[in-house]
Amino acid sequence: MCASLPPAAYRWTDEEGAVDDGALAGEGETRAAHDEAGRKRRLEYPPAPEPLPVPVVDNHTHLNFRDGLVAVGVRAALDAAEAVGVHRAVQVGCDLPSSRFTVEALDIDSRLLGAVALHPNDAPRYAARGEFESALAEIEQLASHPRVRGIGETGLDYFRTHGEALEIQRDSFRRHIDIAKRLGLTLQIHDRDAHDDVVRILGEEGAPERVVFHCFSGDEDLARTCNENGWFLSFAGTVTFKNAENLRRALTIADPARVLVETDSPFLTPHPYRGRPNASYMVPYTVRGMAEVLGADLAELCSRIGENTVAAYGSWD
Ligand SMILES: [Zn+2]
Repeated sequence: MCASLPPAAYRWTDEEGAVDDGALAGEGETRAAHDEAGRKRRLEYPPAPEPLPVPVVDNHTHLNFRDGLVAVGVRAALDAAEAVGVHRAVQVGCDLPSSRFTVEALDIDSRLLGAVALHPNDAPRYAARGEFESALAEIEQLASHPRVRGIGETGLDYFRTHGEALEIQRDSFRRHIDIAKRLGLTLQIHDRDAHDDVVRILGEEGAPERVVFHCFSGDEDLARTCNENGWFLSFAGTVTFKNAENLRRALTIADPARVLVETDSPFLTPHPYRGRPNASYMVPYTVRGMAEVLGADLAELCSRIGENTVAAYGSWD
Protein backbone atom coordinates (compact mmCIF):
# COMPACT_ATOMS: atom_id res chain seq x y z
CA MET A 1 0.00 0.00 0.00
CA CYS A 2 1.29 3.43 -0.87
CA ALA A 3 0.99 5.61 2.20
CA SER A 4 0.52 8.79 0.18
CA LEU A 5 -2.74 7.73 -1.47
CA PRO A 6 -6.27 7.24 -0.18
CA PRO A 7 -7.69 3.71 -0.55
CA ALA A 8 -8.64 2.93 -4.17
CA ALA A 9 -12.40 3.41 -3.68
CA TYR A 10 -11.80 6.92 -2.36
CA ARG A 11 -9.60 8.13 -5.20
CA TRP A 12 -11.09 10.59 -7.60
CA THR A 13 -10.76 9.13 -11.08
CA ASP A 14 -13.13 10.95 -13.43
CA GLU A 15 -15.95 13.43 -13.33
CA GLU A 16 -18.51 10.85 -12.38
CA GLY A 17 -16.49 9.49 -9.48
CA ALA A 18 -16.41 5.85 -8.55
CA VAL A 19 -19.40 4.03 -7.09
CA ASP A 20 -19.22 0.30 -6.47
CA ASP A 21 -22.59 -0.88 -5.19
CA GLY A 22 -24.43 2.30 -6.09
CA ALA A 23 -27.75 1.21 -4.63
CA LEU A 24 -26.26 1.92 -1.24
CA ALA A 25 -23.83 4.72 -1.81
CA GLY A 26 -24.94 7.78 0.12
CA GLU A 27 -27.30 9.48 -2.26
CA GLY A 28 -29.20 11.60 0.18
CA GLU A 29 -27.19 14.20 2.02
CA THR A 30 -23.83 15.59 1.01
CA ARG A 31 -21.51 17.37 3.42
CA ALA A 32 -21.05 21.02 2.53
CA ALA A 33 -18.00 21.93 0.44
CA HIS A 34 -17.35 24.91 2.73
CA ASP A 35 -16.43 24.83 6.41
CA GLU A 36 -18.35 26.66 9.17
CA ALA A 37 -16.25 29.79 8.55
CA GLY A 38 -17.22 29.74 4.86
CA ARG A 39 -13.81 28.61 3.59
CA LYS A 40 -13.73 26.16 0.73
CA ARG A 41 -12.71 22.69 1.91
CA ARG A 42 -10.21 20.45 0.15
CA LEU A 43 -12.30 17.50 -1.03
CA GLU A 44 -9.67 14.83 -1.70
CA TYR A 45 -9.69 12.00 0.81
CA PRO A 46 -6.54 11.80 2.98
CA PRO A 47 -3.96 9.04 2.52
CA ALA A 48 -4.52 5.61 4.05
CA PRO A 49 -2.78 5.25 7.42
CA GLU A 50 -0.49 2.39 8.41
CA PRO A 51 -2.66 -0.59 9.42
CA LEU A 52 -3.32 -1.14 13.13
CA PRO A 53 -1.66 -4.18 14.74
CA VAL A 54 -4.99 -5.36 16.24
CA PRO A 55 -8.39 -4.55 14.71
CA VAL A 56 -10.77 -1.99 16.23
CA VAL A 57 -14.35 -0.89 15.51
CA ASP A 58 -15.53 2.51 14.29
CA ASN A 59 -18.58 2.73 16.56
CA HIS A 60 -20.12 5.80 14.91
CA THR A 61 -20.21 6.48 11.18
CA HIS A 62 -22.74 7.82 8.65
CA LEU A 63 -22.21 5.82 5.46
CA ASN A 64 -25.32 7.44 3.99
CA PHE A 65 -23.66 10.85 4.09
CA ARG A 66 -21.63 11.66 1.03
CA ASP A 67 -18.48 13.77 1.07
CA GLY A 68 -15.48 14.33 -1.14
CA LEU A 69 -15.31 13.91 -4.89
CA VAL A 70 -16.45 10.30 -5.05
CA ALA A 71 -19.51 8.38 -3.88
CA VAL A 72 -18.39 5.28 -2.03
CA GLY A 73 -20.62 2.28 -1.45
CA VAL A 74 -21.08 0.49 1.84
CA ARG A 75 -18.97 -2.55 0.97
CA ALA A 76 -16.12 -0.52 -0.52
CA ALA A 77 -16.06 1.73 2.55
CA LEU A 78 -15.84 -1.27 4.87
CA ASP A 79 -13.22 -2.99 2.67
CA ALA A 80 -11.02 0.12 2.86
CA ALA A 81 -11.45 0.27 6.63
CA GLU A 82 -10.76 -3.43 7.10
CA ALA A 83 -7.53 -3.13 5.10
CA VAL A 84 -6.10 -0.84 7.81
CA GLY A 85 -7.42 -2.78 10.82
CA VAL A 86 -10.86 -1.20 11.27
CA HIS A 87 -12.78 -4.40 10.71
CA ARG A 88 -16.26 -3.38 11.84
CA ALA A 89 -18.46 -0.34 12.27
CA VAL A 90 -21.72 0.97 13.67
CA GLN A 91 -23.81 2.76 11.04
CA VAL A 92 -25.91 5.55 12.58
CA GLY A 93 -29.19 7.03 11.37
CA CYS A 94 -30.30 10.54 12.31
CA ASP A 95 -33.72 10.83 10.66
CA LEU A 96 -36.12 8.51 8.81
CA PRO A 97 -34.25 8.29 5.46
CA SER A 98 -30.87 7.60 7.10
CA SER A 99 -32.38 5.18 9.62
CA ARG A 100 -34.05 3.25 6.78
CA PHE A 101 -30.69 3.29 4.97
CA THR A 102 -29.09 1.90 8.15
CA VAL A 103 -31.37 -1.12 8.23
CA GLU A 104 -30.81 -1.77 4.50
CA ALA A 105 -27.04 -1.55 5.00
CA LEU A 106 -27.20 -4.07 7.86
CA ASP A 107 -28.74 -6.58 5.48
CA ILE A 108 -25.96 -6.29 2.90
CA ASP A 109 -22.83 -6.34 5.07
CA SER A 110 -22.28 -8.33 8.27
CA ARG A 111 -19.43 -6.04 9.32
CA LEU A 112 -22.08 -3.53 10.40
CA LEU A 113 -24.29 -3.07 13.40
CA GLY A 114 -26.71 -0.14 13.46
CA ALA A 115 -28.24 2.60 15.54
CA VAL A 116 -31.38 4.56 14.66
CA ALA A 117 -32.97 7.74 16.02
CA LEU A 118 -34.26 11.21 15.32
CA HIS A 119 -31.25 13.49 15.89
CA PRO A 120 -31.79 16.29 18.46
CA ASN A 121 -31.65 18.86 15.66
CA ASP A 122 -34.10 16.87 13.49
CA ALA A 123 -36.71 16.09 16.15
CA PRO A 124 -38.03 19.70 16.24
CA ARG A 125 -38.35 19.68 12.43
CA TYR A 126 -40.54 16.57 12.56
CA ALA A 127 -42.55 18.16 15.37
CA ALA A 128 -43.07 21.36 13.38
CA ARG A 129 -44.64 19.30 10.59
CA GLY A 130 -46.81 17.38 13.06
CA GLU A 131 -44.90 14.20 12.20
CA PHE A 132 -42.91 13.57 15.36
CA GLU A 133 -45.09 10.78 16.77
CA SER A 134 -45.33 8.85 13.51
CA ALA A 135 -41.60 9.26 12.86
CA LEU A 136 -40.70 8.04 16.34
CA ALA A 137 -43.02 5.05 15.90
CA GLU A 138 -41.16 4.14 12.71
CA ILE A 139 -37.80 4.51 14.50
CA GLU A 140 -38.99 2.06 17.14
CA GLN A 141 -40.09 -0.35 14.46
CA LEU A 142 -36.74 -0.08 12.60
CA ALA A 143 -35.00 -0.66 15.94
CA SER A 144 -36.51 -4.14 16.13
CA HIS A 145 -34.04 -5.34 13.45
CA PRO A 146 -31.72 -7.80 15.26
CA ARG A 147 -28.59 -5.97 14.12
CA VAL A 148 -29.81 -2.57 15.32
CA ARG A 149 -28.15 -2.44 18.72
CA GLY A 150 -28.38 1.25 19.50
CA ILE A 151 -30.87 4.08 19.86
CA GLY A 152 -28.99 7.12 18.64
CA GLU A 153 -27.87 9.52 17.99
CA THR A 154 -30.13 11.24 20.47
CA GLY A 155 -29.46 13.76 23.20
CA LEU A 156 -29.23 17.53 23.30
CA ASP A 157 -27.68 20.13 21.01
CA TYR A 158 -27.67 23.63 22.49
CA PHE A 159 -25.31 24.84 19.75
CA ARG A 160 -27.68 24.52 16.80
CA THR A 161 -31.13 24.43 18.39
CA HIS A 162 -32.57 27.37 20.31
CA GLY A 163 -35.76 28.74 21.84
CA GLU A 164 -38.96 26.74 22.02
CA ALA A 165 -37.48 23.89 20.00
CA LEU A 166 -35.32 23.00 23.01
CA GLU A 167 -38.33 21.72 24.94
CA ILE A 168 -39.16 19.44 22.00
CA GLN A 169 -35.55 18.33 21.91
CA ARG A 170 -35.56 17.43 25.60
CA ASP A 171 -38.86 15.58 25.24
CA SER A 172 -37.47 13.68 22.24
CA PHE A 173 -34.41 12.70 24.29
CA ARG A 174 -36.66 11.34 27.06
CA ARG A 175 -38.67 9.34 24.54
CA HIS A 176 -35.52 7.85 22.99
CA ILE A 177 -34.26 6.85 26.46
CA ASP A 178 -37.57 5.08 27.01
CA ILE A 179 -37.30 3.17 23.70
CA ALA A 180 -33.70 2.11 24.47
CA LYS A 181 -34.77 0.77 27.86
CA ARG A 182 -37.85 -1.06 26.57
CA LEU A 183 -35.93 -2.69 23.70
CA GLY A 184 -32.76 -3.34 25.74
CA LEU A 185 -30.61 -1.29 23.34
CA THR A 186 -27.55 0.89 23.87
CA LEU A 187 -28.19 4.63 24.06
CA GLN A 188 -25.90 6.67 21.82
CA ILE A 189 -25.73 10.25 23.06
CA HIS A 190 -25.15 13.40 21.03
CA ASP A 191 -24.18 16.10 23.53
CA ARG A 192 -23.21 19.50 22.17
CA ASP A 193 -22.81 22.26 24.77
CA ALA A 194 -25.38 20.51 26.96
CA HIS A 195 -23.44 18.28 29.39
CA ASP A 196 -25.36 19.24 32.54
CA ASP A 197 -28.82 18.75 31.06
CA VAL A 198 -27.84 15.46 29.38
CA VAL A 199 -26.63 14.07 32.71
CA ARG A 200 -29.66 15.51 34.56
CA ILE A 201 -32.19 13.97 32.16
CA LEU A 202 -30.41 10.61 32.19
CA GLY A 203 -30.70 10.73 35.99
CA GLU A 204 -34.35 11.73 35.97
CA GLU A 205 -35.39 9.08 33.45
CA GLY A 206 -33.02 6.38 34.69
CA ALA A 207 -30.29 5.58 32.18
CA PRO A 208 -30.41 2.42 30.06
CA GLU A 209 -27.94 -0.30 30.97
CA ARG A 210 -25.46 0.79 28.29
CA VAL A 211 -24.85 4.45 27.42
CA VAL A 212 -22.27 5.77 24.93
CA PHE A 213 -21.27 9.44 24.82
CA HIS A 214 -20.65 9.65 21.08
CA CYS A 215 -17.88 12.11 20.10
CA PHE A 216 -17.12 12.72 23.75
CA SER A 217 -16.79 16.49 24.11
CA GLY A 218 -16.63 16.95 27.87
CA ASP A 219 -13.90 17.76 30.33
CA GLU A 220 -12.55 15.86 33.32
CA ASP A 221 -15.77 16.45 35.29
CA LEU A 222 -17.93 14.75 32.67
CA ALA A 223 -15.36 11.94 32.32
CA ARG A 224 -15.64 11.35 36.08
CA THR A 225 -19.43 11.30 35.84
CA CYS A 226 -19.15 8.71 33.06
CA ASN A 227 -16.76 6.63 35.16
CA GLU A 228 -19.12 6.72 38.15
CA ASN A 229 -22.08 5.61 36.05
CA GLY A 230 -20.27 3.07 33.86
CA TRP A 231 -21.00 5.08 30.71
CA PHE A 232 -18.81 4.71 27.64
CA LEU A 233 -16.72 7.59 26.27
CA SER A 234 -16.28 7.40 22.51
CA PHE A 235 -13.40 9.51 21.23
CA ALA A 236 -13.45 10.96 17.71
CA GLY A 237 -10.83 12.79 15.63
CA THR A 238 -11.42 15.84 17.82
CA VAL A 239 -9.15 14.30 20.49
CA THR A 240 -6.22 14.87 18.07
CA PHE A 241 -7.04 18.55 17.43
CA LYS A 242 -4.38 21.01 18.58
CA ASN A 243 -6.79 22.96 20.82
CA ALA A 244 -8.33 19.87 22.46
CA GLU A 245 -6.27 19.67 25.65
CA ASN A 246 -9.47 19.22 27.70
CA LEU A 247 -10.39 16.10 25.71
CA ARG A 248 -6.93 14.63 26.15
CA ARG A 249 -7.14 15.23 29.90
CA ALA A 250 -10.57 13.55 29.93
CA LEU A 251 -9.08 10.58 28.05
CA THR A 252 -6.32 10.15 30.61
CA ILE A 253 -8.78 9.83 33.50
CA ALA A 254 -11.47 7.83 31.63
CA ASP A 255 -12.06 4.27 32.88
CA PRO A 256 -9.98 2.21 30.40
CA ALA A 257 -12.81 -0.34 30.25
CA ARG A 258 -15.15 2.33 28.88
CA VAL A 259 -13.06 3.92 26.12
CA LEU A 260 -14.23 3.58 22.49
CA VAL A 261 -13.15 5.12 19.19
CA GLU A 262 -15.19 6.47 16.27
CA THR A 263 -14.99 8.71 13.22
CA ASP A 264 -18.43 10.36 13.05
CA SER A 265 -17.47 10.33 9.38
CA PRO A 266 -17.68 12.19 7.11
CA PHE A 267 -17.18 14.79 9.88
CA LEU A 268 -14.41 15.43 12.45
CA THR A 269 -11.43 14.28 10.39
CA PRO A 270 -8.40 13.75 12.66
CA HIS A 271 -5.25 15.85 12.66
CA PRO A 272 -3.36 16.51 10.38
CA TYR A 273 -6.25 16.24 7.87
CA ARG A 274 -8.84 18.35 9.74
CA GLY A 275 -11.44 19.70 7.28
CA ARG A 276 -10.87 17.03 4.63
CA PRO A 277 -13.42 14.24 4.09
CA ASN A 278 -13.45 11.55 6.78
CA ALA A 279 -14.17 7.83 6.56
CA SER A 280 -13.81 4.75 8.76
CA TYR A 281 -10.37 3.95 7.30
CA MET A 282 -9.10 7.09 9.11
CA VAL A 283 -9.62 5.60 12.60
CA PRO A 284 -5.93 4.55 12.95
CA TYR A 285 -4.87 8.21 13.04
CA THR A 286 -7.13 8.77 16.05
CA VAL A 287 -6.18 5.55 17.84
CA ARG A 288 -2.47 6.33 17.44
CA GLY A 289 -3.10 9.81 18.86
CA MET A 290 -4.93 8.25 21.82
CA ALA A 291 -2.10 5.77 22.47
CA GLU A 292 0.34 8.66 22.51
CA VAL A 293 -1.76 10.64 25.01
CA LEU A 294 -2.11 7.59 27.25
CA GLY A 295 1.49 6.44 26.86
CA ALA A 296 -0.08 3.07 26.00
CA ASP A 297 1.12 0.23 23.84
CA LEU A 298 -0.82 0.52 20.56
CA ALA A 299 -1.72 -3.18 20.27
CA GLU A 300 -2.92 -3.29 23.88
CA LEU A 301 -5.07 -0.19 23.41
CA CYS A 302 -6.60 -1.67 20.24
CA SER A 303 -7.41 -4.95 22.03
CA ARG A 304 -8.99 -3.03 24.86
CA ILE A 305 -11.10 -0.91 22.51
CA GLY A 306 -12.18 -4.07 20.68
CA GLU A 307 -13.39 -5.69 23.93
CA ASN A 308 -15.07 -2.48 25.10
CA THR A 309 -16.97 -2.16 21.83
CA VAL A 310 -18.45 -5.64 22.18
CA ALA A 311 -19.37 -4.77 25.79
CA ALA A 312 -21.17 -1.69 24.47
CA TYR A 313 -23.06 -3.22 21.53
CA GLY A 314 -22.86 -6.99 21.78
CA SER A 315 -21.28 -9.40 19.32
CA TRP A 316 -21.06 -8.83 15.57
CA ASP A 317 -21.12 -12.62 14.94
ZN1 LIG B 1 -22.90 11.43 14.14
